[in-house]
Amino acid sequence: MKKRDFLRAAGLFGLAGIANPFRLSAANDEPVEATTFRSGDFELPKLGYATDALEPHFDKQTMEIHHGKHHAAYVRNLNDAIKNTPYATMEIEEILAKVTDKFPAIRNNGGGHYNHTMFWQLLAAKGGGQPSGKLADAINAKFGSFDKFKELFGKEGTSRFGSGWAWLVVDKKKGLFLTSTANQDNPLMTKIVKKQVGTPILGLDVWEHAYYLKYQNRRADYIAAFWNVVNWEEVSRRYEQAMV
Ligand code: MN
Repeated sequence: MKKRDFLRAAGLFGLAGIANPFRLSAANDEPVEATTFRSGDFELPKLGYATDALEPHFDKQTMEIHHGKHHAAYVRNLNDAIKNTPYATMEIEEILAKVTDKFPAIRNNGGGHYNHTMFWQLLAAKGGGQPSGKLADAINAKFGSFDKFKELFGKEGTSRFGSGWAWLVVDKKKGLFLTSTANQDNPLMTKIVKKQVGTPILGLDVWEHAYYLKYQNRRADYIAAFWNVVNWEEVSRRYEQAMV
């Protein structure tokens, strides 16, 4: 690993005392030494709660398959795709910032790994309610009210044709905006999304695999249920980190 990458990884994860959730080595609850990262060693992070913890909003079977099968496949396929390429030594954020449409396997699986790792952290068994503090102020200032924000975010999700994600994003000027992206793209993919660039702080998976077992074709019902399991503390943490 280049010194620059090590310093960045150490800054993001080491000094903050937070284990890098994208690459987990020995113990999942221990900070990971950046120097131990090797090519192709992205791993499936553990959920911070039981697969039935989000019932009845997100059902156990969906969580098991979504995390244990879908996310696991993105990790496996990402490791295969970056092998023997310059992407093999990069952290996930750098992969997303540099990937182009010439590398669809890295784009799709890198996005899949990042998006899902973030998504699991954005959910909580005792979630829901409303944001507070600076994030609440910013949402009210930008969208008028929390209810209006929910309506507009929901529209991003319901109007995304096919598979993708709805996002609340902090842009370069530290303002909030809403968008959606196709497939596993996200606002960190600066060479792919162009107009939707920024730091995502809240994301909702609107692929059918995220809701079909419980909600079938009723994506709007799934989105309504999502508001009951949002981990607003985590969204706030990401917002304040993006504002630095
Ligand atoms: Mn998914």
